[in-house]
Amino acid sequence: MTHQHPRTPDLLSVEEARERILALVSVLEVVESPLLEALGQVLAEDAVAGLDIPPWDNSAMDGYALRRQDIEGASPQHPATLRVIGYVAAGEVPFQHVGPGAAVRIMTGAPIPPGADTVVPFEDTDEVSRKAPAGRGSPEEIGILSAPPKGSSVRLRGEDVACGTVVLPRGTVLRPSEGGVLASLGGATVKVIRRARVAILSTGDELVSPGQPMAPGKIYDSNSYTIAGLVKKYGGVPTVMGIARDNLASMHDMLGKGLMADMLITSAGVSKGDYDMVKDVLSELGDIAFWSVRMRPARPLAFGVLRGEGGRQVPHLGLPGNPVSAMVAFEELGRPALLKMMGRTRLDKPTVEAVLEDTIANHDGRRVYARAVVTRRGDTYYARTTGPQGSNILTSMARANGLAICPEDVPALYPGQRVQVRMLDWDEEGVY
Ligand code: AMP
Ligand code: MG
Repeated sequence: MTHQHPRTPDLLSVEEARERILALVSVLEVVESPLLEALGQVLAEDAVAGLDIPPWDNSAMDGYALRRQDIEGASPQHPATLRVIGYVAAGEVPFQHVGPGAAVRIMTGAPIPPGADTVVPFEDTDEVSRKAPAGRGSPEEIGILSAPPKGSSVRLRGEDVACGTVVLPRGTVLRPSEGGVLASLGGATVKVIRRARVAILSTGDELVSPGQPMAPGKIYDSNSYTIAGLVKKYGGVPTVMGIARDNLASMHDMLGKGLMADMLITSAGVSKGDYDMVKDVLSELGDIAFWSVRMRPARPLAFGVLRGEGGRQVPHLGLPGNPVSAMVAFEELGRPALLKMMGRTRLDKPTVEAVLEDTIANHDGRRVYARAVVTRRGDTYYARTTGPQGSNILTSMARANGLAICPEDVPALYPGQRVQVRMLDWDEEGVY
């Protein structure tokens, strides 16, 4: 850290702040995790197929397995009539050999019997007009009414996955489809980068935990819930630690408890009036810097690395206290760090270009993040801000699906102008 005991906070751009934070967090360890729990996490090693998928040639349709050469020219007027020598359902192993003039009644997913090379679906046979014998419903003979190409309705062994190939490279983020691919290879667990445990601590004498009685001069603690929610949304495991009071003993005690986690996130206590006290506590626990980031909301920020148990390094992000500031600072600066710890390499929220429908003012050369609702009409995105933009107006965040950005050097954006909007609920974009 550049300043152990800063007099004035460092002035940083959003990018500089983000780079400094990312440089100080590292990727967590690999764990073996049950497939379902690993969803959303990053694959830590190449997944190599130990079998072919499908494991054998099988039928894509309910129909008749036969030799294509036996049905040349078949049509409704000139059916090819074959002897039905057996029946095979999914999960069974066919034993009948399909010789000349023979067919096996076959269900979707059942292995193709030896000798057969083509499946003709029921719809292209005269099965409905045949009297099926008792039992499993196969007639003695079947009329084939069409002659599809050889290999029709046969799914070939290994056509999805060939044994020995890398099916998913390490670094892949596991979505439901990847979970399914891994399941189809037969493993119940998978090696992934583990989830980050994040301790979340609110600070302030005015705070009361939800569920407790309200008292004069107090407000309910919402930051614990927004930040824990965000941590969870991005795949971390939040622990809400409660509230530290604005005194050295309480701060010291609660911050110390947070060192159990992989990352500690506090809110409030980093603006001008407060940071002298917080600084003293944090400096005892590790290396911390106080920043003034050129963004609105969320100018004041602290970041550092604290010493956890056994010398473990615990990154600490000190968010501003105002509810919207805390969320915006987390989205822009905390979220990338959390994702990096969990092995993600795509750290950027997608941005869309929208037509602005009202005004975003920028008084003092910071990057303004205005809470906005983005809608699409025809081929165009439109962005409308969600009412009063005070950093305490949390409902403006609740109504927004994006952050419309007015750049540092632009004094205002007006209706009809193009604006870049960070889409908060879209997945991070980019290439691995
Ligand atoms: P501070 O950074 O301590 O000056 O706090 C800035 C503003 O954010 C004050 O109005 C605080 O009451 C408010 N605030 C701080 N922490 C929280 C919290 N956990 N939940 C809701 N509001 C908070
Ligand atoms: Mg405070």
